[in-house]
Amino acid sequence: MPQLIDGKKISAEIKDELKEKVQRLKKDGIHVCLAVIQVGDDPASSIYVNNKKKACAYVGIESLAFELPKETTQEELVALVENLNGNEKVNGILVQLPLPEHINSDVIIRTISPDKDVDGFHPESVGRLCIGADGFVSCTPAGIIQLLKRSGIEIAGKECVVIGRSNIVGKPMSILLLRENGTVTVTHSRTRNLKEVTRRADILVAAVGKPKFVTSEFVKENAVVIDVGMHRNAENKLCGDVDFEDVQRKASAITPVPGGVGPMTIAMLMYNCVRAAEK
Ligand code: NAP
Repeated sequence: MPQLIDGKKISAEIKDELKEKVQRLKKDGIHVCLAVIQVGDDPASSIYVNNKKKACAYVGIESLAFELPKETTQEELVALVENLNGNEKVNGILVQLPLPEHINSDVIIRTISPDKDVDGFHPESVGRLCIGADGFVSCTPAGIIQLLKRSGIEIAGKECVVIGRSNIVGKPMSILLLRENGTVTVTHSRTRNLKEVTRRADILVAAVGKPKFVTSEFVKENAVVIDVGMHRNAENKLCGDVDFEDVQRKASAITPVPGGVGPMTIAMLMYNCVRAAEK
């Protein structure tokens, strides 16, 4: 059996560390506050927003909820974000994506002050990540680095292959692995001979968005396999981008779905909020 990389346990550790930190900050008169904005009532978004509010409550972060109707205009949303940018009480601003089609999410992301950009999606945050400067890092890839480090998996010098090049997962993931001195290859839908490339990986990160796409044929013996995917199958059960049953026979360590990468995203959001307050 491979080492099971336990995102539930590691995310709980991180949240407990942050809880203590938040208490210390409170003693110094610093209260951590996150503004969470949701436009419309998409059920999946409502679940994510609720989980974020619950995590805030656990860690001791105040959450200000803005639940706006789906008819909200782009101008109204921009005005709210600008108002929160100027509100000294608010340390972090999170706009739950996806937004309704009539709102350009790029415009909204760019409106959030880089000092309060706890999702790490603002171009300034992304630029800072690329040049190795201090800044907020997108929560899912940041969580994966924590999973690896806290599971005792060395990144430096390893062949790392990322499947997927999205702005929120694949690209920041590859830059973070590079920052940790991995030798990084980024693959995508136009990559030729994908299996040959992924079989070079000591650490393989699957962020492809296709259920059970990665089978044992993609994986080198004893590789570490990180599954970012999140899908519901016909029986409403969660599964990832990796065919867990098949791949676990070859991997030396693997993340399960659920209980792997998923819980880390919210833990790292909490981490970013605390950092925003410390700044
Ligand atoms: P995305 O924006 O759809 O990106 C998918 C990437 O996979 C694209 O870069 C695409 O390449 C590539 N791809 C698609 N088909 C491919 C193929 N046949 N061969 C090689 N590459 C292929 O998805 P995402 O937002 O990065 O999310 C990826 C997965 O992670 C999804 O399942 C999502 O639900 C999940 N997710 C989970 C969390 C979490 O907290 N656990 C957070 C975010 C996302 P092109 O660029 O060429 O199109």
